[in-house]
Amino acid sequence: MTRPVVSVRDLVVRFPSLDGSSEVRAVDGVSFDIRPGETFGVIGESGSGKSTVGRTLVGLLAPTSGTMAFGDRDRAAMTRAEWRTERRHYQMIFQDPNAALNPRMTILDSLTEPMRIAGGRSKADMQDTALAALEKVGLRRDMAQRYPHELSGGQKQRVNIARVLPLSPRLIVCDEVVAALDVSIRGEILNLFKELQDDLGVAYAFIAHDISVVAQISDRIAVTYLGQFVELGPTEGIIDDPLHPYTVALLSAEPQPLPTHLRHRRRMTLEGDIPSPANPPSGCRFHTRCPWATPDCASLEPEWRELKPDHRVACHHATEKGMPPLPVRESVSSD
Ligand code: SF4
Repeated sequence: MTRPVVSVRDLVVRFPSLDGSSEVRAVDGVSFDIRPGETFGVIGESGSGKSTVGRTLVGLLAPTSGTMAFGDRDRAAMTRAEWRTERRHYQMIFQDPNAALNPRMTILDSLTEPMRIAGGRSKADMQDTALAALEKVGLRRDMAQRYPHELSGGQKQRVNIARVLPLSPRLIVCDEVVAALDVSIRGEILNLFKELQDDLGVAYAFIAHDISVVAQISDRIAVTYLGQFVELGPTEGIIDDPLHPYTVALLSAEPQPLPTHLRHRRRMTLEGDIPSPANPPSGCRFHTRCPWATPDCASLEPEWRELKPDHRVACHHATEKGMPPLPVRESVSSD
């Protein structure tokens, strides 16, 4: 089997809370591989830890514990210099198209900046490479002389993609990269990501709160809740046959894509806010909002079980056919 681009085991990332009185368990024991050339989608509500996973993958945050291997190298075994060289191949693009663009720098300078930092190239080579990258993302070469304020949001996001291409990325973490764009532009940018992946074989970790966006581009999807993965499987399996109640709730909230078998059933609406990651519920963390919860769910943490090939779930009551019929309660609304 091909070696994963990145292998993560029991990743834990904790921060002190704002008042310093407790610890926020932003990520609490997640394990996954990202395979070469695949798009690994990560979805969840705000505060689920999905962005923290992404930032840790590219070295912007340090793990509290757990292991991360990049190709055949264990992160913990690399020297600082080795990691500095290795991490160039793991890049991140953010939601705000302006985040990585200095308003006082031309697009050409913004494009050559990452190459300048990496070192080892002549000025002429960096400029040629930058212009070629600009064309690769569908922008004209003459745009290199413009400033960010002269570009639309979609064009700026294309520049952000072009910035990371010369670094020969093996993995690009895309954190809500289309959330700030007009709906009409989103499809174009998603198509660009797909074209570049076909061409370059790069893998993506595609992070978003919008399951319909993630489903359009991902090969597999991980569903996050309060710092943990609750379900991970092939996109088709997650969308058409979700196994975890939280995934069912996320899909119920989406007009598209709605699994066919859910369209004729009661829809599930989530009540209440996501609990605080500083003080997560005991047992299954979803039990405070789950219509299927039983007394065991509040005391026993569910195992991470592979119920179908390549499809895992953390729920005491999930079966390979999904969940039993939803009990009629106040938290359930009819279509
Ligand atoms: Fe719901 Fe229990 Fe499954 Fe958690 S373990 S998702 S509370 S049924």
